[in-house]
Amino acid sequence: MPTYARLPVTFKKGEGAWLWDTHDQRYLDALSGIGVCGLGHAHPAVAATLAQQGSTLIHTSNLYHIPQQQQLADQLMRLSGMEQAFFTNSGAESCEAAIKIARLYGHNKDITTPTVVVTEGSFHGRTLATLSASGSRKVQAGFEPLVQGFVRAKFNDIDELREIAKNSGDTVAILVEPIQGEGGINVPDDHYLTAVRELCDEYGWLMMLDEVQTGICRTGKWFAWQHSDIRPDVVTLAKGLGNGFPIGACLVSGPATNVLQAGNHGSTFGGNPLACSVALTVLQTMEKEQLAARAEQLGERLRTNLTQAFAEETGVAAIRGKGLMIGVELDRPCGVLLKDALEAGLLISIQADNVIRLLPPLIISDEEADEIVARLKTIVTTFLKKEAPL
Ligand SMILES: *Cc1c(COP(=O)(O)O)cnc(C)c1O
Repeated sequence: MPTYARLPVTFKKGEGAWLWDTHDQRYLDALSGIGVCGLGHAHPAVAATLAQQGSTLIHTSNLYHIPQQQQLADQLMRLSGMEQAFFTNSGAESCEAAIKIARLYGHNKDITTPTVVVTEGSFHGRTLATLSASGSRKVQAGFEPLVQGFVRAKFNDIDELREIAKNSGDTVAILVEPIQGEGGINVPDDHYLTAVRELCDEYGWLMMLDEVQTGICRTGKWFAWQHSDIRPDVVTLAKGLGNGFPIGACLVSGPATNVLQAGNHGSTFGGNPLACSVALTVLQTMEKEQLAARAEQLGERLRTNLTQAFAEETGVAAIRGKGLMIGVELDRPCGVLLKDALEAGLLISIQADNVIRLLPPLIISDEEADEIVARLKTIVTTFLKKEAPL
């Protein structure tokens, strides 16, 4: 189905931060398959695990015990301080699980129409519940009737959350991204998550963080909430967890533990031995190579160099982000930059019409980071010269 407006390129192989197309042109990947391949392409440890586990046991089903799933859960608990995990195959499924937990948590408290607070500009996936939760008309249009039970607040606005809390006894949870990814790399104020945590404690809401894009070292910590001194009740993961092998997870702690019971939820593929082995290798490799700290350091370097590169460029409105989740906002729509960048051998994405999004692999060298800035500078400077602002 023509669901994707694809760029005119076909890749045949990759290595580290580089991809080669069918004409042997080389591209620097500053997007990592949309924040997925944190270890870069064709990582030898990931490839070895795929081959080894693939020739031993791929799938049995959740009717039976799966030691790799238990080990992966144990590792995720150790790294996150959360208490239980449910494994899925995608980000949307992880968020579906979170929404189901919130509803059941509400029903267990005799709230018959439980409501989840979500934010403007958010993205949680393309299933009916997650597109209804998303704060983007583009993903909802044409798919009405939307799933009910969501109330929307401005992102990074604690006062509005307080108003909702005072006026709605049916609210049971808030679902929010620590940094909005698809919405344009929107970084909230430093105290935002802490204030959300306090509000959740005060009103008995579940604090549910969508870390599908921010999780697994992307922002310079294992999980983005670890930049603040809090722990959420529910966390959703996917993108970076399998380095391209599909796997997601929904983690719970505190009041969200044991909400889902036998028979409440399930997945045929979720948590299979192959997916979990690959994810275990991803976590192990990231920990061994200290890629969270490395992402933080590379992010500083990229943002400093981008700021310097565009110091004289009035068309660049803002440079923001955390770790290797970076947005460069222009003062005008810049969708055409996707193709300009491709022609210059650089892979990026454009969010919210005018924000260049960079999600490079966490394994890039300093030189590769500098090369991203150099290529971006040429493309953006040329673009701003020829395209008039609105
Ligand atoms: C990508 C993304 C999703 C959806 O993940 P899929 O694997 O495409 O279903 C959900 N939430 C956030 C924050 C995302 O970035």
